Amino acid sequence: MKSKLPTVGTTIFTVMSKLAADTGAINLSQGFPDFDCDPALVDAVARHMREGRNQYAPMQGVPALRQAIARKFLALYGASYDPDAEVTVTSGGTEGIFDAVAAVVHPGDEVIVFEPCYDSYVPAIEVSGGTAVVVSLRYPDYAVPWDEVRAAITPRTRMIMLNSPHNPTAAILGADDMARLAQLVAGTDISILSDEVYEHIIFDGVRHESMARYATLRERSFIVGSFGKTYHVTGWKVGYVVAPARLTAEFRKLHQFVTFSTNTPVQHALAEFLDQQRGYPELAAFYERKRDLFLDLISGSRWTPLPSRGTYFQLLDYSAITSEPDMDFALRLTKEHGVASIPTSAFLYKQAAPPVLRFCFAKKDETLRAAAERLRAL
Ligand code: GLN
Repeated sequence: MKSKLPTVGTTIFTVMSKLAADTGAINLSQGFPDFDCDPALVDAVARHMREGRNQYAPMQGVPALRQAIARKFLALYGASYDPDAEVTVTSGGTEGIFDAVAAVVHPGDEVIVFEPCYDSYVPAIEVSGGTAVVVSLRYPDYAVPWDEVRAAITPRTRMIMLNSPHNPTAAILGADDMARLAQLVAGTDISILSDEVYEHIIFDGVRHESMARYATLRERSFIVGSFGKTYHVTGWKVGYVVAPARLTAEFRKLHQFVTFSTNTPVQHALAEFLDQQRGYPELAAFYERKRDLFLDLISGSRWTPLPSRGTYFQLLDYSAITSEPDMDFALRLTKEHGVASIPTSAFLYKQAAPPVLRFCFAKKDETLRAAAERLRAL
């Protein structure tokens, strides 16, 4: 059979989490909390199940949840979205990303992506017949080289995919980046896919630059969000996409045939939590403390942290320990030293991998302490 994605293997998250499980290593690789969500959220899901909300949700999502999402965008970003025509609940952020790309990318279209690039983006482009035009973020600050973006834009550019706070680098976009982006796309019909699944996990008092804040960007953007990250329920796989009506109409043509609709009782429970503004207002402080704890625990070791400005990831430079390529070292670190991480080479297409590994600090303090002890021994 002729593969549609000949260079794609098994995602690095599955590879590293399996290796961690097989070897008994502490798993700081795939991004998920090792602590539980608010028990009241589980109770709410169970209550909705007992009350019989167990059949298909509307294709677009449960109205109460779409309304709560729209209210959040208005409250946080001053952006008004119509819950009926501009908000869609998806089975996780990854589904939302795939559907948005598949909805707009035609064979021969180009999509600008930034590396390190989350591993689902390029396959979504290529399976639609598009070409990923890769622009490298500048190591080590992972800033966007806007002049290179300008040079990469052609009449075939259909979309630009951005992600802030950024996985795996933990960099963020600033207001100056948004201004440059707005300049570059003005007068074009380029769409933007803005992966904002870590919108509530941003540190040091800096504000999240959502595309929704800027009218000229909002009008061309699919904004992807995730409840998994916000409510510590990555396994529930519920996210959303907000986009202007003309984009949402195309988006839903895909969504309705990819998953049709998303888990009903979970949507009802999330609607209650979101409406009561539970969880997300304190999330940044919660993870900032964990970031600082992890940094404190490894300070004085041979690992050098890069700035983590958002997400629940921390890049650590290992060049004082070994000159091995990142994948080799990540495998050895898991097998011989009992800590699993993610090599950034899994997200790179052009650039040589720098000597850094990504560690997830969405973990109990005791997990971070145990992992740090092993890391300090190197
Ligand atoms: N987003 C998660 C991470 O970066 C992984 C999600 C997945 O495994 N698909 O670790």
